[in-house]
Amino acid sequence: MRENLNEYTHELFMDQKIDPWSSKTIKNYKRVFEEFGIERIGKNLRKKFPHFFFRRGIVIGHRDLEKIAKRVEKNQPFINITGIATSGKFHFGHKIIIDLFKFFKELGGISYFAICDIDAYISRPDRRVPSLARAKEYAVENLSYILALGLTEKDIYVQSKKEQRYYEFAFEISKKITESVFKAVYGHLHLGKIGATLLQFADILHPQLPEYEGKMPSITIVGIDQDPHMRLVRDLTRRLPYNFELPSVLITRHLEGLQPGTKMSSSDQQNTIFLSDDPKVAVEKIIKAFDGGRPAKEQRKEGGRPHICKVYDFAVFNYESDKKLNEMYYNCKAGNVLCYDCKCVVAEFLEKLLTHYQKKVKQTVKLAKKIVYG
Ligand code: SF4
Repeated sequence: MRENLNEYTHELFMDQKIDPWSSKTIKNYKRVFEEFGIERIGKNLRKKFPHFFFRRGIVIGHRDLEKIAKRVEKNQPFINITGIATSGKFHFGHKIIIDLFKFFKELGGISYFAICDIDAYISRPDRRVPSLARAKEYAVENLSYILALGLTEKDIYVQSKKEQRYYEFAFEISKKITESVFKAVYGHLHLGKIGATLLQFADILHPQLPEYEGKMPSITIVGIDQDPHMRLVRDLTRRLPYNFELPSVLITRHLEGLQPGTKMSSSDQQNTIFLSDDPKVAVEKIIKAFDGGRPAKEQRKEGGRPHICKVYDFAVFNYESDKKLNEMYYNCKAGNVLCYDCKCVVAEFLEKLLTHYQKKVKQTVKLAKKIVYG
C-alpha cells in the first residue's frame, strides 16, 4: 500500500486508465485499491452512514472516513467540500455527487460546493469548452439543476467569483509541487490542467484556513478516477505551512454509460442521460441501452443478467426504494420479465423524474444566473 508521492507510477495510471479527465471506465478496481491504499467501506461504516449509496456498493472506498463518522457521532461540525467542473450539461453521473453532498450536509457538514467554471475552461480542450463565457453558461445550467435537486445559494460558491484569499492560497500551494511530481502522477505537463489542479487543491483545503472555518476534518466526494488529486492534496497538506487536518475522501464508482465501457459524461451524448433531456428522448435512450437479456425463450427459462445490464445499473443509482430494486432484480433473474417490458418500467420512472426536475428548474434558473453573474 502506498500513499507516498515519490512512489507514484505513471504506468499504473495509464494501465488502469485513472485519468481525471478521461470518460473511460476503470477495469480493475481491485488492483487500484491495493496499489493506492484506498480503504473499503466495511459493515461498520455502512451502518454509520445509512444512505443507499453505501448499502449498494456505489460508495466503494474511502480515506479517513472514520474521522467524519466520529464528528457525526459527537455532533461536531465538519467541512463538506466537493464540486463539479462545468464543462457540459448536467447529467445523472453528476446527480450522485449532489445526492451525497446533501446527505453529508444533513449530517452536520458545513457546505462548500464549488462550481468550477475556471477549472472547466482551462483543463478541457477548446472543442469542448471554447471560452470562459461558455463555461459560465454551463455553470448556470448545472447550477439550475443543483438548486432543483435541493442545494441552496448558501451551500455554493463559484470559482470565478471567489475572493482574493482563495487565489492567494492556490499560488501558495503551487510552490509545493514540482514538475516531476506532476508528471509522475498525470503523465504530462499541460499548463491548463496544472492550473485547474491547483484550484482543486485550493478548493479542498481553503475552508481550513483561519479566514474560513479553521482547522477541521473535511470530506470530499470523488469518483475513483479523481483519486490522484486526493492523494496529491493529502501529501500537500502535510507539507504546507498550516496545521491542517488531512482531508477525508469518499470514493464512488461511476454510473456507467448506456453501452459497455462508457461512463455518463457530458462529452458522450448518446450514452448519457442529461437532466435536461426531453423525457421522450431519455425514454428512447433507456429502451436502446445495453441489457443483460437473452433470446426470449431462453430468458424465460434461465433469467436475465442484471450484473451486466446498464438499465439495472441506472436503477441501482436512482431507485430510492430497496424493495422496488429487489423486485427488478428478482424478476430479471427468475425470467419473469423480458427486457423490453422491464425497460419500459424504468423508462416510465425516468420520464416522471425528468418532468419533475425540469418543472423545478424553471424556478431556479433565475437564481442560478444571479449566483454566476451577479
Ligand atoms: Fe436488464 Fe431488466 Fe433485461 Fe434484466 S430484464 S437484463 S434488468 S433490462
